[in-house]
Amino acid sequence: MSKLNIYNSLTRKKEEFIPLNPPHVGLYVCGPTVYGDPHLGHARPAITFDLLFRYLKYLGYKVRYVRNITDVGHLVADADSGDDKIAKKARLEELEPMEIVQYYTNRYHDIIGRLNVLPPSIEPHASGHIIEQIAMVKQIMAAGYAYESNGSVYFDVEKYDKKHDYGKLSGRKTEELLSNTRELEGQQEKRNPFDFAIWKKAEPEHIMRWPSDWSDGFPGWHLECSAMSAKYLGETFDIHGGGMDLLFPHHECEIAQSVAALGHESVKYWMHNNMITVNGQKMGKSLGNFINLDDFFSGNNSLLSSAYSPMTVRFFILQAHYRSTLDFSNEALQGAEKGLKRLHAAIKSLDKIIPGKTTGFDMNKIITDAFDALNDDMNSPIAIACLFDGVRIINSLVDKKESISKEDLAVFRNFYHTMVYEILGLMDEGIQENSLTSGKLVDFILNIRTEAKNNKDFATSDKIRDELKALGIVIKDGKDGVAWEWE
Ligand code: ZN
Repeated sequence: MSKLNIYNSLTRKKEEFIPLNPPHVGLYVCGPTVYGDPHLGHARPAITFDLLFRYLKYLGYKVRYVRNITDVGHLVADADSGDDKIAKKARLEELEPMEIVQYYTNRYHDIIGRLNVLPPSIEPHASGHIIEQIAMVKQIMAAGYAYESNGSVYFDVEKYDKKHDYGKLSGRKTEELLSNTRELEGQQEKRNPFDFAIWKKAEPEHIMRWPSDWSDGFPGWHLECSAMSAKYLGETFDIHGGGMDLLFPHHECEIAQSVAALGHESVKYWMHNNMITVNGQKMGKSLGNFINLDDFFSGNNSLLSSAYSPMTVRFFILQAHYRSTLDFSNEALQGAEKGLKRLHAAIKSLDKIIPGKTTGFDMNKIITDAFDALNDDMNSPIAIACLFDGVRIINSLVDKKESISKEDLAVFRNFYHTMVYEILGLMDEGIQENSLTSGKLVDFILNIRTEAKNNKDFATSDKIRDELKALGIVIKDGKDGVAWEWE
């Protein structure tokens, strides 16, 4: 099998993944700014890096996955002045900012969890790391790459760019930035328009504020990720991920901050997922093509012709390579729904196949091709195509037009379970419903067994135990009653 290669946005090429400190892998992904319900755009980074997290774990790495919650400092229009996104929402809804943060963090966990995205190892909040961010501002100032102006602290991009390469990630040049920068409020405080705030003095009406040497204020948005990744993953770590929309200015600024504060770069591999478009257009509230994830599950949105299950949405996203744009349409989702049903039905039918003496097809090629695809920069669409090559063969096995040996059948079944359930995280939603029903059924049967035991009808109670065992259900008689589990 090939080795894992990932596309590094910094070097702009595919590189073999070699961890800094194997078997440990440090993975940092920019999480949500929690001021609204999760939408289709949130699903893509969550699922992309969930696939990476799952696959690295499958490969045997011990992954520390840090995904932050932005709850302060992210200003409307991603600029250096103006309203804080959370404070603005809090004012609109007449709530405490932390009520907004808690509410939308819970919503994010709930809805992203339904997409079977595993929780990260650590989920730090920016507001819980003000001390670390103030310390980093001081480090950057001490290194001479930031200056105070009217109670705010700005990163000196021009000075930094003389010694280091500002724009190396995004490929932008400072001259180009200068010509693109509009005159914005607060600009007069900066030496250069493209300098960015790492500490911002709070206006009197600004509610989210903390004391510092410079002013009562709040950290700049880009600073939290530099400070929290260093705290939890160390000064150098393996992978930093996020959406392509974060590449500039957010990640470009992160690199500059870390280099200025630490004297070296922090990240070995930068990974960015591409965007989702809706009928060929960028998704945006003002464009009227905005779809919350919850709308998919309920079907309650004029852009949706029906409801789609969480696994359909997950499969739809995995059917495109994470670096390609993905266009939403009802037709594409309906196709995903059908495809996923076919895949799960084939996996189920693997349990019914009666093995023969020999295997008449090249099973190893299907397995190797699927893993090679994942190793080629997580090419999930190709891996899924390999799974469907196998589905055609499984259907021939069911029709007895093809044969498989007992040993190979066990390997093939294991491959499908590992790849589909464990790595791609595509649960069988049908099975979930069934297991709920069958769980109630087992409890019902166990009640009959208890009655039989109470009547000293041990023949019946033993028969029930043995029959359930044959179905893969193990009964444990304890002091507090009967418990059962799947074998
Ligand atoms: Zn970030």
